[in-house]
Amino acid sequence: MTAAKCCSVEDSIILGINFSHKPKSKAHHNGSESSSRPIGPMPSFRRLQVAYSGSLSTCSSQRINEDLAQTFGSDLFDFQLVELKGITQNFSRSYLLGEGGFGKVHKAYVDEGFRPGLKPQAVAVKHLDIEGLQGHREWLAEVIFLGQLRHPHLVKLIGYCCEEDERLLVYEFMPRGSLENHLFKRLSISLPWGTRLKIAIGAAKGLAFLHGAETPVIYRDFKTSNILLDSDFTAKLSDFGLAKMGPEGSNTHVTTRVMGTYGYAAPEYVSTGHLTTKSDVYSFGVVLLELLTGRRSMEKSRPKGEQHLVDWVRPYASSSRRLRYIIDPRLGGQYSVKGAKEMAQLAIQCVSLNPKDRPKMPMVVEKLEGLQNYKDMAITCGLWPPPTTKSSRVNGVSTKGGYCKPSPVAPIRKS
Ligand code: AMP
Repeated sequence: MTAAKCCSVEDSIILGINFSHKPKSKAHHNGSESSSRPIGPMPSFRRLQVAYSGSLSTCSSQRINEDLAQTFGSDLFDFQLVELKGITQNFSRSYLLGEGGFGKVHKAYVDEGFRPGLKPQAVAVKHLDIEGLQGHREWLAEVIFLGQLRHPHLVKLIGYCCEEDERLLVYEFMPRGSLENHLFKRLSISLPWGTRLKIAIGAAKGLAFLHGAETPVIYRDFKTSNILLDSDFTAKLSDFGLAKMGPEGSNTHVTTRVMGTYGYAAPEYVSTGHLTTKSDVYSFGVVLLELLTGRRSMEKSRPKGEQHLVDWVRPYASSSRRLRYIIDPRLGGQYSVKGAKEMAQLAIQCVSLNPKDRPKMPMVVEKLEGLQNYKDMAITCGLWPPPTTKSSRVNGVSTKGGYCKPSPVAPIRKS
């Protein structure tokens, strides 16, 4: 969602600036995953968005479903509010999974026979808060994009409900919740290095799939709270409320109102409103840095030079000697030094100020998959603070090479 109500560090940005549109040469994209459903005829997305993006009263659930089915052969279920109230015990607090910018999310279970063709399973029911930050337009974008897109790294939309001014979405249930909760909630167990890598690869594949269509889909709100995790930590992208069709024909970008999340949005997008797939690549780089450091993209409670993650990391990322000062101390030194170094370099490439210097997502996937081959686990640093004993072994692991003190520590010499 654009902004989690609960989390003050994430500020949504809606600047509402109109920018001019300059066509240029055609950008080339590829890299969809074979097990996924190909992205369909894009003009239909636009037609549906235009047809239903008006006031709430224009939305008839039946009409949308018929239209989606006609256009895409959609297999979405059109639920009634009374059915969703029933399976969530009238949206009981005890079924609450979380709350984002769209509204509350409840867990529910659909039994055998709930709807013909729907297998018994746990689901997540998202209920639009009509006074919230997002509205009918975002609900519709989610139905249109996720109704059509199927991929192992996109969360599956099962159905929706549209009655009077009620808007709901029903998804497959993701047992491990969001990456944000795993990385940043104090009480959560730290994610091991291999799991972080797996999550990064899964999320990168999701983005590569979206960018790989004939007319690319720009996700526009890539961040840890929009990456959901399955029981085996398979990462899936959720929340297509801000997704946009990419440029067509000879255009290099689309021009839009600037929307997204501070700390993740690409600087050229914020300053010009020009949106390309490379804007998503920038946000991906920020998430990679969050996985490496265990710090949020923006932390206003930190000292001045450390508030903006990208700026803070840049001088450290180029050398493995310096890098250890910024690696998430919660990893306890258990990570591949080579892998971390290359991941940091890749992240820095992704957050290049010039969008042309950023890699394309299929290249990012390839690079990250290569890091899985590194079996060296760091013994160059251990948990901070170091033990008071003079022994050079802790828990059977050599501490030769010293301990990593969590930042802020290492001064960067300006040479
Ligand atoms: P969102 O509105 O998408 O930001 O969701 C708010 C919170 O609800 C997330 O941080 C998750 O913890 C939870 N959530 C959302 N969708 C799902 C899902 N499909 N499965 C499990 N938990 C979910």
